[in-house]
Amino acid sequence: MLVEAVSDEGCSIGVRARTPGDPAACPGCGAASDNVHSYQHRTVTDLPIDGRTVRVRVQVRRSVCPTMGCRNTFREQVLGVLERYQRRTTRPITRDHGVPIL
Ligand SMILES: [Zn+2]
Repeated sequence: MLVEAVSDEGCSIGVRARTPGDPAACPGCGAASDNVHSYQHRTVTDLPIDGRTVRVRVQVRRSVCPTMGCRNTFREQVLGVLERYQRRTTRPITRDHGVPIL
């Protein structure tokens, strides 16, 4: 992820980030796509700093698969940071359970 801005929000710290923009692999057929359909934002909580919550707002791309017959639209994944359907980064989960997430 690329961090674009960090802001002090009093009780919390806000981080605005985005993905680097590399082509994303279609989960259906595996083809690489840099054809952006739209952008979406996800907000997740990261490890606290100095007792303050860290909220990371990440811009991710929704891409269109270039393969004829597939044409799947899919949201890119940020492995190791954002996993599908989770609202926290994997770092607190690793800490809480003591088992690394692969
Ligand atoms: Zn595809």
